[in-house]
Amino acid sequence: MTTTNFTTYVSEQGQDLANLTNEEIYLQLLNYVKKEAAGKTKNTAKRKVYYISAEFLIGKLLSNNLINLGIYKEVKESLAAVGKSIAEVEDVELEPSLGNGGLGRLASCFIDSISSLGINGEGVGLNYHCGLFKQVFRNNQQETEPNYWIENDSWLVPTDISYDVPFKDFILKSRLDRIDVLGYKRDTKNYLNLFDITGIDYGQIQGGIEFDKTNIVRNLTLFLYPDDSNKNGELLRIYQQYFMVSNAAQLLIDEAIERGSNLHDLADYAYVQINDTHPSMVIPELIRLLTEKHGIDFDEAVSIVKNMVGYTNHTILAEALEKWPLDYLNEVVPHLVTIIEKLDALVRAEVAEPAVQIIDEYQRVHMAHMDIHFSTSVNGVAALHTEILKNSELKPFYDLYPAKFNNKTNGITFRRWLEFANQDLADYIKELIGDDYLTDAAKLEKLLAFADDKDVHAKLAEIKHKNKLALKRYLKENKGIELDENSIIDTQIKRFHEYKRQQMNALYVIHKYLEIKRGNLPQRKITVIFGGKAAPAYIIAQDIIHLILSLSELINNDSEVSPYLNVHLVENYNVTVAEHLIPATDISEQISLASKEASGTGNMKFMLNGALTLGTMDGANVEIAELAGQENIYTFGKDSDTIIDLYATGGYVSRDYYEGDQAIKEAVDFIVSEELLARGNAERLGRLHNELIVKDWFMTLIDLKEYIAVKEQMLADYEDQDAWMTKVVKNIAKAGFFSSDRTIEQYNQDIWHSQD
Ligand SMILES: *Cc1c(COP(=O)(O)O)cnc(C)c1O
Repeated sequence: MTTTNFTTYVSEQGQDLANLTNEEIYLQLLNYVKKEAAGKTKNTAKRKVYYISAEFLIGKLLSNNLINLGIYKEVKESLAAVGKSIAEVEDVELEPSLGNGGLGRLASCFIDSISSLGINGEGVGLNYHCGLFKQVFRNNQQETEPNYWIENDSWLVPTDISYDVPFKDFILKSRLDRIDVLGYKRDTKNYLNLFDITGIDYGQIQGGIEFDKTNIVRNLTLFLYPDDSNKNGELLRIYQQYFMVSNAAQLLIDEAIERGSNLHDLADYAYVQINDTHPSMVIPELIRLLTEKHGIDFDEAVSIVKNMVGYTNHTILAEALEKWPLDYLNEVVPHLVTIIEKLDALVRAEVAEPAVQIIDEYQRVHMAHMDIHFSTSVNGVAALHTEILKNSELKPFYDLYPAKFNNKTNGITFRRWLEFANQDLADYIKELIGDDYLTDAAKLEKLLAFADDKDVHAKLAEIKHKNKLALKRYLKENKGIELDENSIIDTQIKRFHEYKRQQMNALYVIHKYLEIKRGNLPQRKITVIFGGKAAPAYIIAQDIIHLILSLSELINNDSEVSPYLNVHLVENYNVTVAEHLIPATDISEQISLASKEASGTGNMKFMLNGALTLGTMDGANVEIAELAGQENIYTFGKDSDTIIDLYATGGYVSRDYYEGDQAIKEAVDFIVSEELLARGNAERLGRLHNELIVKDWFMTLIDLKEYIAVKEQMLADYEDQDAWMTKVVKNIAKAGFFSSDRTIEQYNQDIWHSQD
């Protein structure tokens, strides 16, 4: 697959591997991989897919690229032969910070799978210089700092591609940097296209992640999603979104012309997948370019564009379905408003129903509505989520366009989340069933033959323990955390959001602490690990972080309790942290309020890595339960129909749960106990305590009792290691469905139709 091997390459550079520092080895590897990538040809199918996304949470790229080149082991061994550790070399790389969470990570798994399947498809996004913020904890609170990640030598490959992007008051010139996206053992490649402005100015930063949000010409790509709790923040987001899609549209049209399109047939050459509503303006922008720049008449332009766009919905949370005030759009991109108004008129001429209009009575533009009318496909990201879209959230649209709606259950790339992150498990699986699961994940089912094999159970337990030891080293060196490798590891890692209910897990921790204080000691020590960032404008999420950090200080330092219970919140959760935590975890916490988590992908990573799910029947958990078998995962809580009804009737009253149950009241009130107030901030703890009693919009208390009971059952079941490991094997064996290769094959077959 490669032309020269790495050791030869290093000698050709006049270097001796044995004498290089880790930093120097990293640079050699970076340049070596880039050289190998440069020798690969581009995928060529006539219809090219443009996966436009405001986020790509790609993670570190060195190891992923080595695996996809098929030389990870070889390089690891040649380093080991001269006394170097590949893990230390991997540490040198900074993790790119181009995403918030699940949506951006999904986009990254998707471009890996698109390349691995040899599909002609590329990612298009923005190159945020300071990324999302870096999370630091001070005084048991989250603080935010710029996350610089771009180094002189990086995976970015500059191009001379540049476009003019017109705004109301000025024109911004773009530049394009690319990252090679190598498929798994393929001779072809694709790109991740990251557009940038030419005049970025770090001097705009005024401390922390504050900056002058009005100086667009200097700041447009400084940060990902700055605080949009005020008008300037929202305007900046509109600037970012338009800049992203105008560049994408210009690139797409240029490339199509170069490949022989006369633009009347543009839809044969290109398909745009809109990842959530952030790239929605690509629809009017393509129409604008086709009409104003390329002389196609309006009606034809509309029908061309309508045939080359698909929209993926990622959430039913109202705040994520963007609605931009027409006034704001007029301030930033008046030339696009003209087109959006025409599209709105086209819809009005066809349907009277107010719920489906693009521009509403308050003069707000519903981006998702525009997407649904002017696209070929609308998809949800897990079976339950798509059903909820069809039957409630987007019902009026489903009634109009039933054929557009389809489900594409999310997936993850097994190259990163098993082959790289859990190398011992991957090796052992190969020993048992061979390596064809790497290109056909369904082959993992061959593991079912070993479900009751005690030798296999013992080996899996040994691998888990080794992963816990590796995690212990990582947390000690990087995060200042002392992990007990002999405890049950119970992990909840994801963005902090009330619907994900980290607060419910925290209430379990309080309950357990009080039980231990009363002398009800668990059979085995439990370590509850959290990780995740909270949006800077999301106060309650930060209060929950504060509660967990305060609990962690209290519990880990209490000599009566800490032999039985530890609590850690890992600072600055990112892909690298996930890669260490997931293989070491026993219990995967997927406890969102039913109907609220569209899919989740963390749940899939844990399943693949031999953790058992403790979850609600929400998102892809439903499909995990179906595939692995209900008896092999631990579910609890009210189902989505019940929850949707409760929202409709206003039937949930948290105070009833609080006052109706002594254990719930005791746990909730401990948030404002003397013990916690001594370590925490009274305002934050008081606000959270009050929130849970008087509002609790995401119904923490409705499922708390059952959650505690099922978690206790799970801890008890852990003691029968053979029965536990039988469940583990069945979960891994059935995880093949959650390969993003399967997801992407379905996107291509049902939506993109890109074939050679
Ligand atoms: C997988 C992943 C997510 C998504 O996790 P969910 O549990 O599905 O919300 C978020 N952040 C990172 C770094 C991830 O790797």
